[in-house]
Amino acid sequence: MVQRGEGEARYGIVGHPVDHSRSPTIHRLFARQAGVEISYELIDAPPESLETAIRGFAAAGGKGLNITVPHKEAALDLCDTVGEAAKLAGAANTLSLREGGTIRGDNTDGIGLIRDLQENRGLTVAGARILVLGAGGAARGIIGPLLAENPAELRLANRSRERADTLAAKWDSVVACTFAELADEAPFDLVFNATSAGLKGEAPPFPTNVVGSNSTAYDLVYSLKDTPFVTWAKAAGSRRAVQGWGMLVEQAAESFEIWHGNRPNTRAILTQLLGPRWNR
Ligand code: NDP
Repeated sequence: MVQRGEGEARYGIVGHPVDHSRSPTIHRLFARQAGVEISYELIDAPPESLETAIRGFAAAGGKGLNITVPHKEAALDLCDTVGEAAKLAGAANTLSLREGGTIRGDNTDGIGLIRDLQENRGLTVAGARILVLGAGGAARGIIGPLLAENPAELRLANRSRERADTLAAKWDSVVACTFAELADEAPFDLVFNATSAGLKGEAPPFPTNVVGSNSTAYDLVYSLKDTPFVTWAKAAGSRRAVQGWGMLVEQAAESFEIWHGNRPNTRAILTQLLGPRWNR
């Protein structure tokens, strides 16, 4: 049972599972910074209950929802109006619940990643050879914004070839393949893990040749210890292997700005969550 104070506006995140999400902590810290009162709830809904969960939250006065695994694509179908990034991605991670029951969908994953790469980590996407592993909701959100930065190449690899082909077909320049088809590739400059591979304890199924001594491996997944992908990338010889905490906080900041019109100080929050060396 969530305790709410009077005057608090209700926000939340819908996923399945969702109990791992750090979004409640991050949004509460943003709200404290901005001096606004909110509640932010975890809502676990399997795919068959997604629409009921969203519409029920709106009917009960909820103002906004973040959407996470595995609902980002399905959530877009429930939106009455859609922002450019969500339209391009075919997936929404931020819903604004409006008077009269209408829903606006946005996608802040891509801009959150780009901000983390460029502003927090000083990484350059322009001219880089990029590999995106995964073709789910997160991959959908980041490919368009990565391409907008003019990389030399963007390769998309996924376990299911069909899903990779469908996603790659949205852009002329993106080539899709399976993980096995990467076996003869030279190391990429930037390798993004946008899969859930390894989270059940198995070794990530990617060929080790895709990273090398000049590669940066970026795991969209985040944890307080090394993630399976970070462990894999370090063992495979990657120069640098980092987790998606910065993306998480930056995409949340974009959502917060959409809802409250106020841009949080993300570096202060990252330092508060992870300590002063969070972007090493
Ligand atoms: P989806 O459920 O939409 O997609 C999952 C992806 O992982 C698919 O490409 C799927 O492949 C692949 N996959 C799942 N299990 C395996 C496996 N055992 N081996 C190989 N591939 C596998 O999830 P999302 O795209 O929404 O999220 C992916 C990850 O990114 C999540 O862990 C999420 O927490 C993280 N994320 C982090 C963000 C951040 O801000 N840091 C933002 C968004 C997501 P297939 O198509 O073959 O099923």
